Amino acid sequence: MSTRQPRPRLLALYIAAITVLGFAGTIATALTREVPPELNGTRITSIVFLAVFAIVGEIRPIVIVRNGEETRKLSLATPAVLAVLAVSGPVIAVTVQVLSTVIDDVRTRRPLYKILFNAAQYAVCVLIASAVYQGLAGDLAGERSAGAHAIRMGALMLAGLIMIVLNWVIVGLAIALATGQEVRAPLRTDAGEFIATHAVLMALGCIAADIAPHGIGVLALLVPPAIAARRFASAGARHAHEAAHDPLTGLRNRTRLNQTLEEALADGPRHAGQGPGLILLDLDLFKVFNDTLGHPVGDQILCVVAQRLASAVPEDAPVHRLGGDEFAVVIAGTVEDARALSARMLASLEEPVRIDDLELLVRASAGIAVAPMHGEDVSGLMKNADIALYHAKLERDRISVYSPEYDANTVERLRLLADLRAAIDARSLDVVYQPQLDIAGRRLVAVEALARWNHPVRGPIGPDVFIPLAEDSGLIFRLTTVVLDTALAQLAQWRIKGHDVRMSVNLSARHLSDLAAPQQIALALQRHGVPASSLVLEVTETAILSDPARANLVIRGLRALGVTIAIDDYGTGNASLSYLRRLEVDELKIDRLFVSNIRAEGHDMIIVRSTIALALELGLRVVAEGVEDELTIEALRGFGDVVAQGYHVGRPGPADVVEEMLIRANGLPAQARA
Ligand code: C2E
Ligand code: MG
Ligand code: MG
Repeated sequence: MSTRQPRPRLLALYIAAITVLGFAGTIATALTREVPPELNGTRITSIVFLAVFAIVGEIRPIVIVRNGEETRKLSLATPAVLAVLAVSGPVIAVTVQVLSTVIDDVRTRRPLYKILFNAAQYAVCVLIASAVYQGLAGDLAGERSAGAHAIRMGALMLAGLIMIVLNWVIVGLAIALATGQEVRAPLRTDAGEFIATHAVLMALGCIAADIAPHGIGVLALLVPPAIAARRFASAGARHAHEAAHDPLTGLRNRTRLNQTLEEALADGPRHAGQGPGLILLDLDLFKVFNDTLGHPVGDQILCVVAQRLASAVPEDAPVHRLGGDEFAVVIAGTVEDARALSARMLASLEEPVRIDDLELLVRASAGIAVAPMHGEDVSGLMKNADIALYHAKLERDRISVYSPEYDANTVERLRLLADLRAAIDARSLDVVYQPQLDIAGRRLVAVEALARWNHPVRGPIGPDVFIPLAEDSGLIFRLTTVVLDTALAQLAQWRIKGHDVRMSVNLSARHLSDLAAPQQIALALQRHGVPASSLVLEVTETAILSDPARANLVIRGLRALGVTIAIDDYGTGNASLSYLRRLEVDELKIDRLFVSNIRAEGHDMIIVRSTIALALELGLRVVAEGVEDELTIEALRGFGDVVAQGYHVGRPGPADVVEEMLIRANGLPAQARA
C-alpha cells in the first residue's frame, strides 16, 4: 500500500550488478586465499556434515507465521554456513551456501536469473561476513585462551548477524524495486521476532563452529534440537494457519478478515475515498442448492466457487469465506476499483459449475463499502457492505455500493420479508381467480390463480412487491406450493360441481431450474385428484432464457405429466416465437402492453395480429391479456380463435364470485341442474 512505483529497469541493473559482484568476489577470494592448512580428516567430515545440514536446512526451512499467513522462511542453512566459515574460511563457506540455495532454487523451479541472483547475493553476504570475522578475530586464530575464545565467538556472532542483515537489505531492495513497496515494510510489523529468531540461529552457528573440530559425533548433537525447533515451529504455524482459515475451502476466515481490514484501515490512504474498500459477496439461492441437492453437493459448489473467486482477485486482495455462502475481499482503492473487482468476481461464476453430471448456474450478488465515506472502522464497513449486499439482492442489481438511503429501505424490506414468511407459514395468503373467455365459443374456459397478500398492518400489498421479494429470498418455492395447493383444491371442488375449466398457476424462474419441480407438481395433482390436463403452468420468457438448457429439461418433465405450459407476458422479453416453440410450450399469453392498444390501428395491432396468426399456425393456444373492453374482444375475434383475459371479462376475484361468473357465462353445470 505505497504510492511508490515499481522500477523494472533499475531492478534489472541491480540484479546484474549483484550477480556480477557475487561471482567476481568469489572468484577473487578463491584466487587470493588459500584453503586453511589445518584441514584434516575430522574437519573435512565436519564440513561435509555441515554442508548436508545446510542443504536440508534450506530445503526444509522454519516457517514463521503471522496472522495465520506464512510471512518468512528461516533457513537453517545460515548457522551451518556460519560454522563452515569459522572452520574453513570464506571459499568453502560460499560454496556450501551457494550449493544449498541453488539446489533449493532448482528444486522449486525458479527462473535462471533468480537462481543466479540468489547465489550471488548469498556469496556477497558470506564474503562480507567473512571479512568482518577475519578483521575482528583473524589474529587470534591459534590462541586457546578463554578471552581469545570469547572474542572469536563474539566476532563470529556479529559476522553472522551482518550476513543476515545484508541478505535482508539486498533482497529487500530487489523487492522494493520490483513492487514499489518500501524496503522497511516487511520488517515493520515483526522486527522483534526477526532479531530474536536470528540471534538464536546465529548462536546455534557459533556452537556448531566451536564443536566442529571435535567431529560429527559431537556435531550430530545439534540435530535433535534443530529438528525439535522446526517441529515446534511448524506445529505453531499449522495451528495459526488453521485459526485463520476456513477448513472447507482453505480460504481465509472471518477472524482473518477483521485483521486484514483493521490493518488496511491503519495503513491505507483515507482521503478522497481511496479506501480501503470491503466487498461482500453472497451466492443467490445457495440454500436451494443445499436443500435440493444435499449438503455434500453444496460443499462441492462452495469449493468450486472459492477457487473461481480466488483466481479472479489480485494477490494483494485475497478472498475470505465468512461462513455459509458469504465471501469477502478487502481492496485498496476507490469505489470504482471495488466495483471493477466485484464485476470480475461475479464474471468468474458465469460458467456453469459442473458437479458429477449436473451443470449448475451459480449466481451471486456483491455489496461494497469504501472507507472513509461508508465507514471508518471495521464494524462500520462490515455493516454497510452488508446493507449494500442486501440492496443488491433485493433490487437485483447484483453489485451495489452502499448509500445511506438504503438503510431505511433495507430494514423496511427485511421486515416485510419476515412478515411474508410468516404469512406463507400461516397460509394466510389469499388466492383470487381471474376468468378467461373463449371468444368464439363464448364460454369461460379457464381461470388464472393470482396470489394476494393482505398485510395485517399495511393492508393489501401487490404481487409486484411481494413476488420479487419471495423470488429473491427463495420463499417463492413455499409461496408457489401454497398457491398451487389452494388452486388445485378449488379446482377439485369446481370439478365436483361440474365446472370444467383449466386452472393456470404462475411459476417463477426459480422453478425452471428446479429439477424436482415435475415430481412435486405430480404429487400435488395426485393429492387433489385433478387431471394434469386441467393444469396450466405459466412461465415467462425471461425465466426460460436465464438458463434455457435446464428450463427445457424441467418443461419437458412437466409436459410429460400431461400439464400444459404457457408463456406469460409474451412480448416483454426477447425470445422469438420459433425459439419458444422449440421448447415445446402449449399456450402463448400476449402481454397486456400490446393488447390494450390494438384498437388503434398501429404497431401494437400489427404485432398482436401477426403473433396470433403465427402462434395459431404453430398449433399454440393464444390468450390475450389485459382485455379491458368489448371493442378489444371484437378486434381479437377478427384475428382468429383466441382466449381473452382481462377486466372486461372479469376481474380477479374470490372463488365464490368467480363461480357465479362461471355459472352466468357457461350456464348451470349438468350436476347442479340435476
Ligand atoms: P400475470 O401472471 O401476468 O397476471 C396478470 C396480471 O394482470 C394480474 O395482476 C391481473 O390482476 C392483471 N390484469 C388482469 N387483467 C387486467 C386488465 O384488464 N388490465 C390490467 N391493467 N391488468 C389486468 P396481479 O394479480 O397484480 O399480478 C401481477 C403479476 O404477479 C402476475 O402477472 C404474476 O406474474 C405475478 N403473480 C401473481 N400471483 C402469483 C403467484 O401466485 N405466483 C407467481 N410466481 N407469480 C404471481
Ligand atoms: Mg400469469
Ligand atoms: Mg401475464
